[in-house]
Amino acid sequence: MPRRPRIDLHTHSTASDGTDRPAELVAVAAAAGVDVLAITDHDTTVGWAEAAAALPPRMRLLRGAEFSCVSPTGRGDRDVAVHLLGYQFDPEHPAIVAEQARLRAERVERLRRMTEKMAADGYPVDPDVVLGLLPDGASAGRPHLARALVTAGVVSTVNEAFATLLYNGSPYFVPKCDTPVHAAIDMVRSAGGVAVFAHPLARRRGRVVEPSVIVELAAAGLGGVEVDHPDHAPEDRALLRRLAADTGLVVTGSSDYHGSNKTTPIALETTAVEALEQLLDATTGIEVLTG
Ligand code: AMP
Ligand code: FE
Ligand code: FE
Ligand code: ZN
Repeated sequence: MPRRPRIDLHTHSTASDGTDRPAELVAVAAAAGVDVLAITDHDTTVGWAEAAAALPPRMRLLRGAEFSCVSPTGRGDRDVAVHLLGYQFDPEHPAIVAEQARLRAERVERLRRMTEKMAADGYPVDPDVVLGLLPDGASAGRPHLARALVTAGVVSTVNEAFATLLYNGSPYFVPKCDTPVHAAIDMVRSAGGVAVFAHPLARRRGRVVEPSVIVELAAAGLGGVEVDHPDHAPEDRALLRRLAADTGLVVTGSSDYHGSNKTTPIALETTAVEALEQLLDATTGIEVLTG
């Protein structure tokens, strides 16, 4: 019997806060025996072309992005930041082009302000250095500042930088203005793509939405939910699986690989081939590329 394909639908490159160039990301995936890979950098599609050009024979590439969004929690308290994975959307769709450009500009300004706050307190970080390393069209993120802190010897790992200095609500944290999640779902769908709620119950990052919000988003056009994710506890995976069964959402699993910015290896978590087919059935945008 042929082995089941290895499918990882959530990975980052140097187009956002990963440490592998898009071509290296594809090579790492190939070396790990990944058959289907999705590149999903935060708020940008600038890594797609390099990843596509690097595809080895028989590997398939989904092109996607992770959209920075904001959502009600379902508890009536203040809104919470959430991430939405969009796959196979037209990258030239005007609303997506405009919103991603707005968010990337906002990300640069926000990271500059965070870096300036730290520099003002005597940390040896320089906004021009932190932002200067960013490739054109790439998304700036806190991991870029975290790396600068590691390089400066302030902390020993990116994780430690988040735990001690860059966590949500830290004195150095500066929020950014994210896209309302309903608008993001509509945008992805009108560009022919399918939307999947990324790590909805990643509690160690902060507050998360109530299950009722996921049910409501499913009715509003959400196509899937990321269940198997390194930041999800076993009981939350079970809850999400039940929720998906009740609402018809497709269940995905992915590594959220970020190269050496996180310890998770590529394809640590994977998606079933049947789930991938259901997701692709919901798309009318661009072709899945094959090497
Ligand atoms: P930002 O997009 O600038 O708000 O930064 C959030 C990003 O930081 C996420 O996409 C993760 O890649 C990364 N991140 C969040 N928490 C941690 C952590 N504890 N360790 C390493 N990376 C993290
Ligand atoms: Fe990230
Ligand atoms: Fe995310
Ligand atoms: Zn991610």
